[in-house]
Amino acid sequence: MKLSFYMPTKVIMGKECIEHNKELFLSQGKRTLIVTGRKSAAQNGSLADVVKVLEQQGIEHTLFNKVEPNPTISTVQQGAVMARECKADFIIGIGGGSALDAAKGIAVLALNSLEGDSIFTGPYENPVLPLFAVPTTAGTGSEVTPYSILTDQGTKRKRNLATPGIFPVTAFLDARYTLALSHPITVNTGLDALSHAIEGYVSVRSNPNSDMIARESIRLLGSVLPLLTKKETGFESREILLYASMLAGQVIAQTGTTAVHAMGYSLTSFKNIDHGRANALLLSEYFTFITPAQPEKVSQVYELMNLPGHKEFTTLIDDLLKAGPGEKESLTGEEISRFASLALEEGNIKNTLPEPGKTELEKIYRNSFST
Ligand code: NAP
Ligand code: ZN
Repeated sequence: MKLSFYMPTKVIMGKECIEHNKELFLSQGKRTLIVTGRKSAAQNGSLADVVKVLEQQGIEHTLFNKVEPNPTISTVQQGAVMARECKADFIIGIGGGSALDAAKGIAVLALNSLEGDSIFTGPYENPVLPLFAVPTTAGTGSEVTPYSILTDQGTKRKRNLATPGIFPVTAFLDARYTLALSHPITVNTGLDALSHAIEGYVSVRSNPNSDMIARESIRLLGSVLPLLTKKETGFESREILLYASMLAGQVIAQTGTTAVHAMGYSLTSFKNIDHGRANALLLSEYFTFITPAQPEKVSQVYELMNLPGHKEFTTLIDDLLKAGPGEKESLTGEEISRFASLALEEGNIKNTLPEPGKTELEKIYRNSFST
């Protein structure tokens, strides 16, 4: 058996887990930069909970609340300037994947003055600041991954800053913060978690340890996602979604994502489709493509989700996608060709089994969208 598994993040889950574990912040220093999106952290109670425990312990805090969805490199550069100015000893990221990813980028650039490509390639000669993560969506799993997905505002393309140094030291999972999520964001982020668990499970880099976690994540998501089609989202379901999303993050931290994410990036960057929705639009056709190469794993996914087969899987995803715009998005022939070429340049395409060429990617896009 070949196996490599690295997960240095301490995960703490439960109602009021920040209050109950507040001493962990002080162990990283006396000054911090808090990184959030523009509004939600101030509205869902997460920011207030963090500020309260910092003040109780005399930790100086500065707020950077300018992170936009699909954060840009320039936003991260601005945050890094602020981290330097306030002499932050550590960073706290609160929010969805966008705020957490920006916080990771800031943790890297605070002490490493890098520009352009070197932000993504390193070397990171100076330390990365320790990072705490408080996820408020249940989807990206960024709280337990070594990835920060940043948008290059020039090319509009997503880039992946991947380095073990940005695994958060601690992730606090309190599902109360996710109660205020709108139905479309709940569905899109839940579908992102499902994509992670599934892609990790069928990735060429999967291993018995990541598979064990992926199976549990897929099983849990399979029990809750059908409830979302009926807009049933009580605290218990929210907690399962947050837990399953964290598990899926642990999976992709080992296996990477595959063609679904490689193809989804252009849908977000050039068609303005939410990250999780972009992946979900491609999932059914992706399965059609990979099934001949890995029929057993694909049928295990259906079984874990308590679904008879591919038809019912497609119906569930289609029902969930109804939370979005009335009609499915469409792509032109030119977009299909361009997006397939861009996807082929992504590192994660190589994690796909079988590895697709341009023709196969074009076919997946064409069959997933009306043209
Ligand atoms: P997001 O872009 O972080 O947030 C989407 C929206 O949800 C924002 O408007 C945000 O508002 C709002 N929001 C967040 N938490 C909320 C809450 N509790 N209640 C109400 N509204 C809330 O969405 P996401 O899907 O979580 O993250 C997507 C990003 O993560 C993409 O850039 C994707 O590429 C990346 N990603 C990263 C990884 C990784 O491993 N690092 C994996 C997958 C995806 P505010 O802006 O006001 O906060
Ligand atoms: Zn994702």
